[in-house]
Amino acid sequence: MGEMSYLDLAKQVEARLRAARETRPGYERNEVTKEVTGAASAPALTETLYRAALHAWWAFTAEGAEADAAHVPYVFQEIVRLIDEVGEPRASECRWAWAREWYVETGCCPTCGEAGVFHEPEAGP
Ligand SMILES: [Zn+2]
Repeated sequence: MGEMSYLDLAKQVEARLRAARETRPGYERNEVTKEVTGAASAPALTETLYRAALHAWWAFTAEGAEADAAHVPYVFQEIVRLIDEVGEPRASECRWAWAREWYVETGCCPTCGEAGVFHEPEAGP
């Protein structure tokens, strides 16, 4: 199990979430888009990796029991490592902005994985 395997799996999950979001009624895009900031306008490589790892984490959160549990501890480890590399408070600022983007794009809460709601990620990955 390596970095690529979990990123590939996460991308498949993310594509499913995005497709499902297209068909979900009663979801108001404008409610969060205005708060999305350009945190990653010129992302460094570590920030790109950090974003990919967070997307994987959020995708597996949304999948719940369907997610491959073997990947979850690895993704968590990667996120912790990348927070160190990106550094705080930058890592948290990026995470909050990307969490809102994630919700806008997939319609799933990054914190609990539920569809149609958004809970602010407060601490940790
Ligand atoms: Zn939630």
